[in-house]
Amino acid sequence: MSCGVLFCLLVLGVQTEKADLVFRNGNIYTVTERQPKAEALAIKADRIIFVGSNTEAQKYIGKNTRTIDLGGKTVVPGLTDSHQHLSGVGSREITLNLEGITTLEEFLAKIKERAQQTKPGEWISGRGWIETFWKPPVFPTRWDLDKVTPNNPAFFVRADGHALVANSAALKVAGIDKSTASPPGGDILKDKQSGEPTGMLIDTAQGLLRRHVPPISAADAERAVILGVKRNIELGWTQIQDAGGSYAEVDLFRKLYRQGAIKLRIYKAVHGPSADAERLLNEGPSIGEFGNRFTLRTIKVVADGALGSRGAFLHEPYSDDPGNTGLLRANEETLLPMLKKALRSGIQVETHAIGDRANRFMLDQYEKAFNAVPIEERKVQEPRWRDEHTQIVSPEDIPRFAKLGVTPSMQPSHAIGDLFFAPSRLGLKRLAGAYAWQSLIKSGAIIAGGSDAPVERGEPMIEFYAAKVSKLVSCVMHF
Ligand SMILES: [Zn+2]
Repeated sequence: MSCGVLFCLLVLGVQTEKADLVFRNGNIYTVTERQPKAEALAIKADRIIFVGSNTEAQKYIGKNTRTIDLGGKTVVPGLTDSHQHLSGVGSREITLNLEGITTLEEFLAKIKERAQQTKPGEWISGRGWIETFWKPPVFPTRWDLDKVTPNNPAFFVRADGHALVANSAALKVAGIDKSTASPPGGDILKDKQSGEPTGMLIDTAQGLLRRHVPPISAADAERAVILGVKRNIELGWTQIQDAGGSYAEVDLFRKLYRQGAIKLRIYKAVHGPSADAERLLNEGPSIGEFGNRFTLRTIKVVADGALGSRGAFLHEPYSDDPGNTGLLRANEETLLPMLKKALRSGIQVETHAIGDRANRFMLDQYEKAFNAVPIEERKVQEPRWRDEHTQIVSPEDIPRFAKLGVTPSMQPSHAIGDLFFAPSRLGLKRLAGAYAWQSLIKSGAIIAGGSDAPVERGEPMIEFYAAKVSKLVSCVMHF
């Protein structure tokens, strides 16, 4: 056939482009079903131009091509953590890191050691404790802390970031006592007999204390970002999606990019509704700054708290705390106008929703906004709004994600971390719609995988492992 001949001639006439870099003899995972494994890959500038066999790779090698023999080593595509808190990851390295502690005694010993190195009157803080593995698994109290921090105001944030425990000196500075009422969306836990605050502040109640803590210095804020970036790169992440923050942070990131201090690719959000969110809505998204390394186009909304600290917003009360249905931290009056504006200005919205009632609230709000702003009035036709965590969903709400085009952004390690308390908090019946990766995938939703560090450790291999052992996914294609 004449066109066949012509095609042949054209192919013969084309010189193969030579690569800058060729990797050979690798165990390369491509994450495509058509060609799952390969031996070699070729790179030109910032693009992969070939993936295949060693023999085929030969033709991309020219006199200026650098070749690397991988000697059978494994290569995977650049990994993106779809949900983490970069400054939090870095701060955990600067303040007291309380991860992996298994007893109250060990927790107090670590704090005592830090208190002995701190000048009297200076604040002490830290993050990462989780009482679920302690015996008994109960929250620490101010009275525990008072024994080891007699001369300093001190507070320590639970791993999930949704609760903290403060000592008596810190509560005193904040003016929190018996008579202080819990703020909306928060809880000041009080001793059942004496009515005194126990030191545990849940969700928005943390703000009553935090506003009295001297702000982190500019130098420490910068150090936290650099340490966070370093840790992420060492762990193998090539991009992280930073779930929240402010323009102060955006300015700091830009400054550090300009100085060449950030090699990681960052996709950034700011918290809203807020003045920062309003600014983003007015200025519009900024995509691919600093050589496609920095994008700002998302508003992070928080709909409820976390399951561990019983702040997740539920339809029915907690199985282990009758009368408590958790906390709703958003409201339609301020949220819906912002959502509509976001559709018109091409801004992505991501909402933290853990409890089944918070998830329904979020889906309802998104649906109202989608109905109110027709496609022709939207800046982006497919807005890809997200639901952060999607932990407990009523079975009847599961199909709504795919139908509305909402992306569940989920963390495999939460399913493992919560294993120890989810059954007691929720009861067995409600677990049907909890951590429902398979049902969401089957319903047609595309899940974004992440770690939520520093809530979890933030290691890609832990996330893969958690996804595999919990049978959340049948393969890692969806990660
Ligand atoms: Zn988070």
